Amino acid sequence: MIKIIQGDITTLAVDAIVNAANQVMLGGGGVDGAIHRAAGRELYEACLKVPEVRPGVRCPTGEARITPGFRLPAKFVIHTVGPVYRDGLHGEPEKLAACYRNSLALAAENGCKSIAFPCISTGIYGYPKEEAAKIAVREVREFLAAKNAEEMEVIFCCFSARDVASYEKLLS
Ligand code: ADP
Repeated sequence: MIKIIQGDITTLAVDAIVNAANQVMLGGGGVDGAIHRAAGRELYEACLKVPEVRPGVRCPTGEARITPGFRLPAKFVIHTVGPVYRDGLHGEPEKLAACYRNSLALAAENGCKSIAFPCISTGIYGYPKEEAAKIAVREVREFLAAKNAEEMEVIFCCFSARDVASYEKLLS
């Protein structure tokens, strides 16, 4: 089941919220900063323990990592790193799609029945909102259509009314 809501993802009592993180995974601006502030210092400590795959990189672009949610109402935070948008010709669509796929797979592996996504890459990372929403909806639909995934509730948590409108259009 897919739902669209407008609001602050840090307030959602779901099994997992997805963080639009960066590769270092130690916090940042936008939704990342909001999640770290709401989850508390323990989230930072947990992220610090995620092994680096190379210096300064705990989560490469397109991949996902999971931590507890600590002081958040959500049980888990799934950290994924969206692509920085250049012109769409540098693998950005594939990387963004991988964020959704890998986050959903990690949620399923951890027994999550509900997951909320922010509009990954569409803030500081500059991904055009409509194009990003198309990829998000396509990947979530494909995932839910696969066996064993029907009972997962996927929420698109939009910060702006404009994002809500573009998701509603795609889902109608
Ligand atoms: P990125 O670096 O991946 O672009 P940003 O955090 O800058 O990540 O933006 C991603 C999206 O998250 C944007 O659409 C932004 O409006 C939205 N956003 C920012 N804060 C929150 C929040 N507290 N809850 C949900 N969405 C948020």
